[in-house]
Parts: sequence; structure tokens; C-alpha cells
Amino acid sequence: VRLGVDIGGTKTDAVAVDSTGVTTQRVRLVTGFGSREVVETAIAAILKIADLSGVDPGGFESIGIGIPGMVDSAAGYVRHAVNLGVDGLNLGDAIAERLGVGVRVENDVSAAALGAYYGLGLTSSMAYLNVGTGLAAGLVINGELWRGARGAAGEIGHIPVDPNGALCGCGQRGCLETVASGSGVARVWTSADQYPVRALFEAADAGDTRAREIRAKLAGGVAAAIRVLVLNADVETVVIGGGLSHLGERLLGDVLDVLSSWSATSPFVASLELASRVQLVPNDFPAAAVGAALVGGTLSGVA
Ligand SMILES: [Zn+2]
Repeated sequence: VRLGVDIGGTKTDAVAVDSTGVTTQRVRLVTGFGSREVVETAIAAILKIADLSGVDPGGFESIGIGIPGMVDSAAGYVRHAVNLGVDGLNLGDAIAERLGVGVRVENDVSAAALGAYYGLGLTSSMAYLNVGTGLAAGLVINGELWRGARGAAGEIGHIPVDPNGALCGCGQRGCLETVASGSGVARVWTSADQYPVRALFEAADAGDTRAREIRAKLAGGVAAAIRVLVLNADVETVVIGGGLSHLGERLLGDVLDVLSSWSATSPFVASLELASRVQLVPNDFPAAAVGAALVGGTLSGVA
């Protein structure tokens, strides 16, 4: 049995996954803010799953942790996890010191990519497109994560697509992330709603012209990200996940409309059959936690 923890900006998901890839235990905790609290949250999650599974933390085949930010997996070191209030943290060492077990730390989008790949029973190549506060992708090629030579693979949110677009947090202008993400929407659409993008969709449905424009740009940006992933890596499947994937068929429908409009004007784009490669991550599937469990030692042949 493997244990996986996904430390998110507001909540932390943890699962136990058996040798066939089935989730046998699951808990959800509120994530603390700042390095010390993040470590405490991770430890609490591990102990809770260990308790439910009836084993000591050392009794798991592997323990993996997915966390946002720049992650050096070999060192267990996390940098720039802004939403967690973590600037620099050796999460691997901190947990090893407290629990006496080794853990594998991985970027959360990469972990989710691996989790979705196995969870959906995919076998070829896949890109997991995380449309959340930011926009990024994780690539799984032949069952393994492809991080790139220096860890930059899948950072497609920072591909500039509009020289006159908004200034991005990365210092460039008009990045895909400035239109195709929650933060991109928040920049141009203010809402007091707990789910601002859902509120945007509802305003658009109600006929608000500006909401319709922003919603169309969001769909265009997600569609552009899918096209980039296929043209760059020719992945068989693009799985849309992340916070905005909870919009479900409404987001997917918009995106498929954009893809089909491109196919109508370009035989080349039509030949890529983009629409047939896209699917949504199942709504309540804890992809990042499952992926974190697997990343400690990838299972083979799990479907
Ligand atoms: Zn950028």
C-alpha cells in the first residue's frame, strides 16, 4: 500500500492506494499557512491515513507528497509555493526528521498528471492540463512523468500569445495564463462569489456582453493550450483538470466549440483531431493525491 498527500492552497487530500491502484482510504484536511503549518498538515495527513490503514507510517511501500511551486524532487525541496506561504522549505527532510520515513516530494501538477494517467486507465501518452489559479501541464509519456531536462516541461501557461496582452506575473506580456486561468479571469472580472468563474459563466448565460467576451477568451486560451500540447508532444490524450475543471461540460463545451471552429477553417488543424483527444478529469477523483502515492515508485500495468 502506498500513501499520497496533495497539499493544496486551501485543503490537503491524502489517500492510501493499494497495489492495483485502487484508493482504499481518503482524508481531507484544511491546509495551514506558512512552512511550519504546511509540515504539520502533511504530518497530520500521513498519520491519519496510517491510522485508518492500521499501519505505522514506516509500513507503507512509499509515501509521496504533491505540492505547488518549484520542486526539486531529488532533494525534497520546495520553492515559491506562494499560495501556501512557503518560500523555501525542505519538506522531505522535515517529515523524515519527525516521522522517521522517507518521502518523495513532487510538483502537484506533475503528481496529478500521473494520478490521472493511471486513474483513467490511459496507456499511451497524456498531457494533464491544470486550469486553476494558474495554467500548467504535466506530461506522462509511456507511463512516466516527463519533467524535461531542467524541469520546465509543461510550463505552457507562460507561452506568450498576445504581444498587447496583460502583463503576466512572470514578467512577460500576454501569456496564455493571463486569459486561461482563474487568476486571468479575476484580473478582468470582479466577483464576490465564492466561485468567481462559475459566476462569470452564469453572467454570460444571462446575456452579459462583457462576461461573454471574457468567457470566450478563457475557452480560446484553453483550446490554444490543447493545440500547443498536441503540436509539441503529440500526446494521445489531453486531460483537463484543476479548479476550473469543476465547470465540467460547460467549460468543455466552450472549448470544443473553439476547436471545431479551427478545424472548419484549417484542414491541418482538422487532421490533428484535437476534440477527440480531450477529456475532463472525473469530478471527485483526487488525481494529485493518487499521483503522489504512485510517484514514490510508479506502478506498472495499473489500469
Ligand atoms: Zn507568464
